[in-house]
This record gives sequence, C-alpha cells and structure tokens, in this order.
Amino acid sequence: MAIPQMQNYINGEWVSSQSETIGDVWCPATGGKIAEVAYGTQADVDLAVKAAKEAFPGWRETPPLSRARYLFRIKDAFEENFEEIARTLTREQGKAIDESRGEVRRMIENVEHATGVTTLMTGYTLEDIATGIDCYAHRQPMGVFAAIVPYNFPAMVAWWFLPYAIVSGNTFIVKPSEQVPMTQTKIFEILDEVGLPEGVVNMVHGSRDVVNGLLDHPDIEGISFVGSTPTAKYIYQRCGETGKRVQSLGGAKNIVAIMPDADLDAAMPSLITSFFGCSGQRCLSGSVLVPVGDVADELLEKFTAAAKAMKVGDGLEEFTAMGPVVSAAHKKRVLGYIEKGIAEGADLIMDGRNFTVPECPDGFFVGPTIFDNVKPDMTIASEEIFGPVVSTIRAKNLDEVIDLINTRDFANAACIYTQNGAAVRKFKYQVKPSMVGVNIGIAAPMSFFPFGGAGNSMFGDLKGHGQEALLFYTDAKVVIERWF
Ligand code: NAD
Repeated sequence: MAIPQMQNYINGEWVSSQSETIGDVWCPATGGKIAEVAYGTQADVDLAVKAAKEAFPGWRETPPLSRARYLFRIKDAFEENFEEIARTLTREQGKAIDESRGEVRRMIENVEHATGVTTLMTGYTLEDIATGIDCYAHRQPMGVFAAIVPYNFPAMVAWWFLPYAIVSGNTFIVKPSEQVPMTQTKIFEILDEVGLPEGVVNMVHGSRDVVNGLLDHPDIEGISFVGSTPTAKYIYQRCGETGKRVQSLGGAKNIVAIMPDADLDAAMPSLITSFFGCSGQRCLSGSVLVPVGDVADELLEKFTAAAKAMKVGDGLEEFTAMGPVVSAAHKKRVLGYIEKGIAEGADLIMDGRNFTVPECPDGFFVGPTIFDNVKPDMTIASEEIFGPVVSTIRAKNLDEVIDLINTRDFANAACIYTQNGAAVRKFKYQVKPSMVGVNIGIAAPMSFFPFGGAGNSMFGDLKGHGQEALLFYTDAKVVIERWF
C-alpha cells in the first residue's frame, strides 16, 4: 500500500509543505511505517497566518449564533465519522480502541459546549457608575490564535481550544504532533466537508520550525500549548518575549493515595485504568501509588493481580486494555527508567521489560511494571516516565501524603481513595495540584470545567476549556458612556 504523506490545510485547501525534511509516522502496534509528514517551515506558517488574518474580519462580523451553527454541523460530521476517527487514532498512537472512542467523545463534548457561545460570551453592564454615566464590558475576539499539541491525545487536545477560539470570532491554526499527524488530518478532512469560510481553521504540520514560526509571528495573538514541561516553559517564555497571550500546559507526576479504609475492590478498575490506560501516557495517569498505613500489602496483592489479568496487545483489537507506547525511542526511554529504579534500590515486583505480544512481535510494547518501596528522592518518584510504570511509596499517614504531593515540582492532579469525609476535606483543601480525584483515578475535567494544573504542570493562568476558554480568546473592552 502506498505510504500517504500528510498535507497542510490552509485557506480551505490541501497544500504541500515547502519543506524538504520528511518524518516517518509509525504504527506502534506493528512497528511498521504508515505515513510520512513534512516538517513545515516558516514559509508554511506565513501562508497559514496570512489566510487566518484575512479571514478574521468577515468571521468576526458573523453573528455568534451563526458561528455556533457551524459547530452544530461539525458535531454531526464528527458523529458520522466517529469510528473512523477513533480507528485512525489507535493506529498511529497505539491506545486501546475503547480509549480512543472515549477521546473522540471528549473532543465532541468541547464542540457541544462551545455552541453555548451566546451565553458564554456575554459581557456585563452597570448603569450610573457616576450620575448619568453607564459602563459595560464586551468580550471581543482578537484575531489569529494557534494551538501546539502533544502526541498522547491526537484528536482531543486541539479541540480543547479550537471550538472556543472560532466560536468567539477568532481564526485558528493547529500544529499537530509530528508523531501522530494522521488523526488531525482525518479530522480536517471532515471539517473541509462542513464548509467553514476559508481561512477560519488551518493546520500546519511539523516540528520545532513550525512552533518557532508561530511563536515569532507578529500576527498571532496567542498560543495554546500542551506538551512536556520543558517545552511548555519554553513556549511560555517565548510568548512573554513576543507579547502574546499564552496558556501552556506541561507534564505531570500524579500521586494516588489509598487510605486504610478505602474500598479496594471498588477502587481496583479505576486504579488499573489510571496507571495503565494509554500505557501510562496521559498527563492524568497515576504515576506514584501511595498506600497509607497497613493497607499496602493487601493493595499491592490485588493491584498486581489485576495488572497481570489485563489484556495487553494491539489497540485495534476489541477488549485490549493496554496497547504499546508510541515509538521505539519512547520504549527505550521507559525501559531506561525501569533500569534506573532498579539501580536506585527500589523493589521491582512486576517486571514489564521483556514483554512480548506474539501477534505483534515488532510492536513497541512495555508490560505493566510495578515498583515497591520507592523513596521520594528516587528518580522514578520524581521524573515523568510517561509509561506503564508504577512507583509505590508507602506512607504512614495522610500528612505524609500531602507533604509528598506538595513538595513535587509537578502539580497536575492528585487522587485519594477513602470512605472518610474528613480525610477528603483535608486532602482537597491542602493539596497543590489543580485537578483532584476523590475515589476517581483520572480526575479529568469535562469540557464545561477548566482543565490544567499548577506548579510546573502549567504556565499561565487561564486554563483549557470551561468558561475560562472564552476569557482566553477574547479581550474585555470596557465602554464608559454618557449622553448630553
Ligand atoms: P512535547 O513537549 O515533546 O511536544 C509537544 C509539542 O511541542 C509537539 O507539537 C512538538 O512538535 C512540539 N515541540 C517539542 N519539542 C519542542 C521544542 N524543543 N521546541 C518547539 N516545539 C517543540 O510533548 P509530547 O511528548 O508530544 O507529549 C507528552 C507530554 O505532554 C507529557 O509531558 C504529558 O504530560 C504532556 N501532556 C500534558 C497535558 C496537560 O493537560 N497538562 C495533556 C497532555 C499531555
């Protein structure tokens, strides 16, 4: 079969990049090459920004309700193509098909939420701020925005941003991850059928040059970024230098606390998907398991048994619970962390290093891996591994857990499993991470709530989706008015 090459989508047209640097796209389950993608250049970015800038005045004047009607059509088109998007996603990213379906559903929910623009975007007003003088604040679109997104959610993450940006009257450019460019290309093929005005949405494939081109471009008002912490920090700093709005979401190292009174059997399914779903490649993955008091042995016995029972294999097979990691390079990185954990003296109680899937001998699989007796200062307890590797740190009491959480650099999410309301209150009140789960392993806010962390897990203040999205993509214009 011919290897497809991904194209850019600019001004309502599919166009080839002007770059001569071509990257390969791999199927993580088979280890085979499935596509190519050009790593775009400044010239590609310039074309996209020009199209988006020219589209802005007409799109801005399109009434919000009319803009929302395009989103209704996009939603219908996504529903019609739901399974195809999910399958493309699993093929290039590796995650289990059911998880891809969940991701596509979350993508659509953002479209649904953004259709409420006529209530989400309203301003406020006060008569007589002084005698005979009225004041009102509008939210106005600003121009061209762009999203730069990671490999682990090839469909959803760009759509944490795009629907809100365009429904509020801006125009938009997406830069997908060069590791997984096929899903967003499929999504833009569907968008093309919907018939948005030319230039309202654009997509430029590539890597650092495209990112830097977007950061440097004077006609871009703001950047929504999601990816690793070093890149998130870089984006944040560069946007500061060039005077752009920015929301920059970074990496994570999420701690999941299990109190002695937790209902372990009820907790087990969500614990397993939290630590091993998407092979641990989620910013909301559980990474550090913290049994408190005497629950540790029973917890680890049940947890390792459940991990062993999990079906690991090609994500396209129904009932696969965990697929491969995204690439050969990432597999090597994850295995390196396992070696490091052993070298630093943690007890490896479940070893995923030589894991094979007979039907997929060349896939990038790492088996579920569990360490016990990890110490807080070990590398595997503090760095983001982004693989199916669990570091267990035993704690004496809740204070120790909270201290552990609040002394990490990352502060994305934290979860507690317990039946004790007072413990929950203390936990949610005191922990620094911004997304907290109570008897829920993946505390993933839905589209109508804000998504993003604190500390080194997010730079900027306005988070993804929720009501904050409309604030990020609009300027508050205040009019103070009197008539003689
Ligand atoms: P990454 O930082 O390597 O890449 C993210 C994006 O930045 C990609 O589009 C990539 O092309 C670009 N990029 C990478 N290096 C760059 C550089 N030096 N200069 C300019 N651009 C660069 O992240 P990834 O490996 O694709 O994704 C995984 C990371 O994303 C993990 O750390 C994960 O925790 C994080 N993540 C965070 C959230 C969140 O909500 N906080 C959500 C999903 C993923």
